[in-house]
Amino acid sequence: MQELRDMLRRDDMDAGLSALIPRLEKAMLDSEKRRQERADMNVAGVTNLTSQLLALEPPREVRKALKQFAKRIEQRASQPREFPALLSELSSLQQQALAALDPESNPVRPGLLQRLFGNKEVADTSGEPELTEANAPPDASLTPDVAAVTEPPIAAAALPMNSAPDALAVSALTPLSAPSSSPDSGAPVNGDPAYALPEVPEPGYSAVAPHIGDSLMGLLDELELPERHQPQGEALRQRVQCGLNWYELVSVLDDLAVLVLVLVLAVTDSGQREFASYLKQLNERLASFLTTLSEAHEGYSESAESARSFNQELREQVSGLQSSVQDAVDLPTLKQSLEARLDGLLSTVSEHQKHRDGHEEEVAQRLQSLTQKVAEMEQEAQGFRDHLEEQRQKALIDPLTGLANRAGWSERLELEMARWKRYGGELALAVLDIDHFKRINDGYGHLAGDKVLKIIAAELAKRLRKTDFIARFGGEEFVLLIPSTPINGAQQLLQTLLDGVEQCPFHFRGERVTITLSAGLTAFANAESSEQVFERADQALYRAKSGGRNRVELG
Ligand code: GH3
Ligand code: MG
Ligand code: MG
Repeated sequence: MQELRDMLRRDDMDAGLSALIPRLEKAMLDSEKRRQERADMNVAGVTNLTSQLLALEPPREVRKALKQFAKRIEQRASQPREFPALLSELSSLQQQALAALDPESNPVRPGLLQRLFGNKEVADTSGEPELTEANAPPDASLTPDVAAVTEPPIAAAALPMNSAPDALAVSALTPLSAPSSSPDSGAPVNGDPAYALPEVPEPGYSAVAPHIGDSLMGLLDELELPERHQPQGEALRQRVQCGLNWYELVSVLDDLAVLVLVLVLAVTDSGQREFASYLKQLNERLASFLTTLSEAHEGYSESAESARSFNQELREQVSGLQSSVQDAVDLPTLKQSLEARLDGLLSTVSEHQKHRDGHEEEVAQRLQSLTQKVAEMEQEAQGFRDHLEEQRQKALIDPLTGLANRAGWSERLELEMARWKRYGGELALAVLDIDHFKRINDGYGHLAGDKVLKIIAAELAKRLRKTDFIARFGGEEFVLLIPSTPINGAQQLLQTLLDGVEQCPFHFRGERVTITLSAGLTAFANAESSEQVFERADQALYRAKSGGRNRVELG
């Protein structure tokens, strides 16, 4: 656009424009070609993963959904903006397919109720699952086997989870919603539904883990990440290579979706498809702009031509006048012919005047439409810039918790460090980690784990000041930047955060579930890199964990 504007101000506008258009066209074609190649790779990767899931012979409903999904892969995977949604849909289908596998096929991680009651069929179907939410677990009635293990069962001993951690899976799950089968379990806890943890069946995952791992590696291989996101790609690759468990798979897929979004935005010539269509639009606008220009030019030559013919006519009229004067024999003839000549002259002038007025109006209109076109082009360019910025902001957010993600964290850390170096003062960094989070997943399923993550993120965020900054660093870890606060003030703030989370009234099937956090806190000191500061906070977190958890340690 800048080039175009400069050109409009120059005299040789036509030459400049005709040189620019072929370059714009070439950029558009190249971009389109690269987009097509990447789209083909995306389609192949997702199709492969879908076929592997189908090969597991999941139940009819899931098979049907997978087949429908497969039919639309080509169309959807070729649109980069669709790709994260596609991956997330595939992740959900995969979850359903795996959840429907016979739990007996997974001897290492039997289902929760199976762990409670061995392989016995559970007959009691009286209680409805008490606590659900909109994003409830996949349909538990997919297969008779799954339905059997997901029916609300029977009573178990009621122990709060934090009092007997190792017995958690059994102790924390007293189903108070089925009082007929658990007469001794005490009064139900009428908890806030917002803190209720959903119930989920656990899948026989290990049977398919290697296939999924291979497919994910294949997908990762196909992603051409920009340099600054390569460490994230590498970390993801290592997580996949080390072998995934069921819960990690979900976060790996989430991270992968974020990477794909980043890729779409950063790698692909600033948003590939939009850019290509923007270039196309720009091209069309330029073409119409050129037409208007050449019309204006024609108008100019036309007006030069008409000025010439007006001159000519005037000259003829005047020389006619001269000869009329010379040829006149008497006064009345002279008067008559002079009048006729003068009439002719006047009408030529007024004719010309009319023509010129009309022409001027036309030229003014053309000029106005040219100005308007330039303004529209500028507006479009601005809209496009805004759209790119919006997409960039989205790529900095963790979709589960709505907090900043790792990329958002890096950006803010850089900014806060630069501010701190320039203006001095205090800057503290804290790392927070949910205690025994694995047990939440193991005990209540990963959807419950996700809900806990969301609620804790909101609990933490609402207690911070505007100038503080929190991000989800990964998994169940959060990081915090606290500017302009002495270390003891920051310590108090962290203690408030920990207390707030501990007091959250989480409950599962009427039973109170207490969840705590541990934190490591440290202050920035001169001439340190952010890695050194982070490492110190991480060490302090480690001490908080080994010192008994649910505490803040200074580093
Ligand atoms: P510690 O007190 O020592 O921190 O124990 P922990 O169980 O919290 O720590 P560990 O690192 O062993 O386990 C973390 C678990 O968090 C393992 C992983 O499956 C789970 N996790 C990570 N990300 C997510 C997520 O997005 N959703 C769910 N539901 N679970 C997650
Ligand atoms: Mg952790
Ligand atoms: Mg933890």
